[in-house]
Amino acid sequence: MSRVTRRMFLSTTVAGGIAAAATPLSSAVQKKGIAARDAVVISSGNGIAATERAMAMIRQGSDALDAVIAGVNIVEDDPNDMTVGLGGLPNELGIVELDASVMHGPTHRAGSVASLRNIKNPSSVAKVVMERTDHVLLVGEGALNFARMHGFKEENLLTEESRKMWLKWKENLSTEDDYLPPHGIDDRDIGSRLHEVMQTYGTINCLGKDLNGNISGVTTTSGLSYKIPGRVGDSPIIGAGLYVDNEVGAAGSTGRGEANLTNCSSVMIVEFMRQGKSPEEACLMACQRIIDHTRMKRLLNKDGKPDFNVSFYAINKKGEHGSASLWQGGSYCLHDGVTNKKYETAYLLKGPR
Ligand code: ASP
Repeated sequence: MSRVTRRMFLSTTVAGGIAAAATPLSSAVQKKGIAARDAVVISSGNGIAATERAMAMIRQGSDALDAVIAGVNIVEDDPNDMTVGLGGLPNELGIVELDASVMHGPTHRAGSVASLRNIKNPSSVAKVVMERTDHVLLVGEGALNFARMHGFKEENLLTEESRKMWLKWKENLSTEDDYLPPHGIDDRDIGSRLHEVMQTYGTINCLGKDLNGNISGVTTTSGLSYKIPGRVGDSPIIGAGLYVDNEVGAAGSTGRGEANLTNCSSVMIVEFMRQGKSPEEACLMACQRIIDHTRMKRLLNKDGKPDFNVSFYAINKKGEHGSASLWQGGSYCLHDGVTNKKYETAYLLKGPR
């Protein structure tokens, strides 16, 4: 089954880049003689507001992890981004289930949550898991109880818009079931428009290097829309949807999570960078590995290429950055300390998919 990309569902896309607000460096930072150019923040293409906020905080002296989480909180709070947090597309029962992970380079600690319901900022919960437990990953009811214990507010994450999208999917799932989309007296094959309302992926990944040279990252998502309840993607799995090594760099991903779960893609990218590859080369190598490992015919198009997309984002210790997707058309946002802009990712395959 082919799937449309999450980008079709992003109502907040930014055409072209925007200039960075000139946040002044804090006086402590100025005294240390740290230059803004030492910092970098990268995110998936839906993160232009996240990179802006994260860089503003870094320029004020924030740790990279606090900065990138504050950045992605904007997207989690945005009901119009149907791939993350509030307004994320739900599971097959119409319930929003969120996954997120954080990784802190200087202490090499991580925290994550999976299948978390009712809490719009799973990335912030993941950080508390990292800081206030001896564990890395909490799931489902346990994650929700933990979030409640730490004062996170519960709310219904299903917006009217995402409820309507889910209902449309349900009503077009099959001509054999009893749910019918709106139809007229002459209509036949009612409910056969599934192709138009296909499942989607969507996520934000954000990585940052702060003024102390420390690297951290976050990935947060509502995952695959209309998923089987309890399905967990790559986003909360350290090494798959996010990985940080403070001495080398960081990588994260969006797209078909199952491909990253079976290839440990983010840790692979960091290891390629450790071997001397540039961030972009390392991302492209991970794309190639996924292509090489995709053998199930149901996941291949008529030309034998993967019928899905995955995108990677990476930075290294020197502050160099790179991004690549299996297929042409991916995008990422980069704040280099001066300019905040959206760019096309490198890619290995050219459409049509
Ligand atoms: N990687 C996410 C997942 O599989 C979805 C996405 O990034 O589009 O849950």
